[in-house]
Amino acid sequence: PSCMREATLEIPRVRWEDIGGQHATKQLLREAVEWPLRHPEAFQRMGIRPPKGVLLYGPPGCSKTLTAKALATEAGLNFIAVRGPELFSKWVGESEKAVRAVFRKARAAAPAIVFFDEIDALTVKRGAAGGSASVADRVLTQLLTELDGIEPLVNVTVVAATNRPDVIDPGILRPDRIDRLIYVGPPDFETRREILCIQLRKTACADDVDVDALAERTDGFSGAEMIALCQESAIAAMAEDVDASCVAMRHFEKCLRGFKKRITPEMLR
Ligand code: ATP
Repeated sequence: PSCMREATLEIPRVRWEDIGGQHATKQLLREAVEWPLRHPEAFQRMGIRPPKGVLLYGPPGCSKTLTAKALATEAGLNFIAVRGPELFSKWVGESEKAVRAVFRKARAAAPAIVFFDEIDALTVKRGAAGGSASVADRVLTQLLTELDGIEPLVNVTVVAATNRPDVIDPGILRPDRIDRLIYVGPPDFETRREILCIQLRKTACADDVDVDALAERTDGFSGAEMIALCQESAIAAMAEDVDASCVAMRHFEKCLRGFKKRITPEMLR
C-alpha cells in the first residue's frame, strides 16, 4: 500500500484575466509551453527545440502556481500537480516509483503540463541533506532519467516552481532539461492595482475606497498578501455591521497598520 498521495490530474479554472499584471511572465510561458505543444510543426520548420521544462522562481505568494494553472486552462492542457515534499516516502524505492508514476500519468494525459511545486525539495544538491540524502539522490536521478527520456516526453512540458533556486541541483537546470528560467517577482504598482481591482470587484465597497492609494501603500506586498489585506479589511467591516457591511477606506487603514509582510529583502533577486 502506498502512503503517498497520488499526483492529481486537475482541470484548473484560472484564466489569464484572473491574474493581475505579470504580463511578461504570461508571455514568456506561452512562448515556452503553449506554442510548442500547440504548434509542434512550426518548431520543426524553424529548427528550434522547444524547452522540456521551465522553472518559475521568486518570492512566495507572487503567482507562480496561479500562472502555471492559467497557462493550462488557456492552452487547453491537462495539468498534473505535484508538491515536491509529497513525493518523499520513507519506504525504500517508493519515492522513485512516485516520480515514475507522475510522468506515466503525464504521458497518458498529453498534451499536459506537469507542475512541480517546491521543486527544491526534490532536487537538493547531491549529498547536501542529512539522513535522507540517499533518498534525495535517488529521486533526483529518477527525475533526470525522466527528463533525459529513453521514453521521450512527447507533448508534456514540466513547469517547476521554487522560492529557493539557489538550493536546486544544477544538474536539473542543464540544457535540454529544465533550462528556461523565469523570474516571477513581487507585484509592481500597476500589478497591485490590478490585483485589488480583481478582488474588489467581488466585494461591496464604499465610495471612499481609493485603489490607487492602496496600491501605493502596499509596496513590498506579495499578491497573496494583497488578497489577505482585502479579506481582513472585509472582515473588519463585517465586525462593525454584519448585515449591511461594506468595506471602507478606514477598514483598509486599520489592517494596513497591523500588517506583517512576509517577503524579506533576502528573498528578492
Ligand atoms: P508559493 O511560492 O508560496 O507557492 P506562488 O508564487 O505559487 O507562491 P500563488 O499560489 O500563485 O503563489 O499565489 C497565491 C495566491 O495569491 C493566489 O491564489 C492568489 O489569490 C494571490 N495572487 C498572487 N499573485 C496574484 C496576481 N498577480 N493576481 C491575482 N492574485 C494573485
